[in-house]
Amino acid sequence: MKQIVYLAIVMSVAFSTFVFAQGDSRIPSKGYALFSKDGNFTPYEFTRHAVGNNDVLIEILYAGICHSDLHHAREDWRKETYPMVPGHEIAGRVVKVGKNVTKLKVGDFAGVGCLVNSCGDCEHCRKGEEQYCDKRVLTYASKDIYHNNEMTQGGYSNNIVVSEKFAIKVPKYAQLEKVAPLLCAGITTYSPIKFTKVMKGDKVAVAGFGGLGHMAVLYAVALGAQVTVFDITEEKRQDAMKMGAVNYFNVRNPEELKGLDNSFRVIISTIPAKYDPAMYLKMLKLDGELVILGLPAKADTPSVDIGTLIWQARRKIYGSQIGGIRETQEMLDYSVANNIYPRVEIIPIQKLDEAYQKVLAGEVNFRYVIDMSTLK
Ligand code: NDP
Repeated sequence: MKQIVYLAIVMSVAFSTFVFAQGDSRIPSKGYALFSKDGNFTPYEFTRHAVGNNDVLIEILYAGICHSDLHHAREDWRKETYPMVPGHEIAGRVVKVGKNVTKLKVGDFAGVGCLVNSCGDCEHCRKGEEQYCDKRVLTYASKDIYHNNEMTQGGYSNNIVVSEKFAIKVPKYAQLEKVAPLLCAGITTYSPIKFTKVMKGDKVAVAGFGGLGHMAVLYAVALGAQVTVFDITEEKRQDAMKMGAVNYFNVRNPEELKGLDNSFRVIISTIPAKYDPAMYLKMLKLDGELVILGLPAKADTPSVDIGTLIWQARRKIYGSQIGGIRETQEMLDYSVANNIYPRVEIIPIQKLDEAYQKVLAGEVNFRYVIDMSTLK
């Protein structure tokens, strides 16, 4: 009997030590969170999972604000879980590495985009297209099935723990504050531009000239394409030309759109609101491709009449999601080497609510990036 009691005490001490060690090794984190879809951003303290053997801990220095963050925050697509710390355009410095990590070391700059994990074993993961893995984990608002189903929290915060595989290496000489948006706006546009094999002389159009759209223009122009931009404002006409576009059309002025049918080999739509995809299908040449990147709120999702697919036969329309980790690294290296960066406005984290309003009103100068040194 004495032995059993002794054993129980030893096991209980061992268990408490284990639990304490587990709890203790969790990483304290602070950021700004939303507590409801109608609420304002509020300072929020939480913890992240421990730094495992294959993980890195990144001190976040900059985080971009993507329109997807607004869609999530406002439950445009689905019911969400709160508190929610958005942010999937993350750039920072590695401050701790697990014992098996070889890709990064303490002091390196690193980025994190929309993905923080995937199964590593399915056909998509094996092809390096983790974004299409059924068991992928998104950077925030996602159940982390690899860490006790806890909800992931994003980059509007001071740190993040991620498997080294999902951390992107950033060259020391990169302009770090402009690197952050490359991790989503950059890769989401780079990937379909590569997939559609855009090349010199191709007629390419970009519909929606915002955070994603201006990156699409920069990449397509860099490849020698003749780029046309469609947006809803006059203010961005000069910017489009400065970025190398050959034409800019304000879709709110229908007169400008005459004579554009059968014009483009590739059209990339980043439009986050209701619009008519058939208008763009008509502008494609035979065998042209309309790539949908923008994902409007569920209530505003446009649809395509299948009759249009017959009248505009052999024009393809399909969606594309971010990009895999290998391609994200390729995009980052290419962008930094060729000095292709987003146009950004740096803001303190206290201005998040105002920034969201301005993105909705179309008043952002392409991409807001939060300077995380302002998080106290
Ligand atoms: P932004 O708000 O930065 O840019 C959207 C642009 O579209 C703005 O310039 C806006 O004009 C313009 N616009 C709005 N309505 C129209 C219209 N009817 N016709 C032409 N242009 C229009 O958003 P982001 O670039 O950050 O994101 C765009 C979309 O892409 C979002 O829906 C986002 O969720 C989605 N996304 C998809 C990803 C994917 O993997 N497929 C990844 C990341 C984002 P104005 O500024 O004047 O309002």
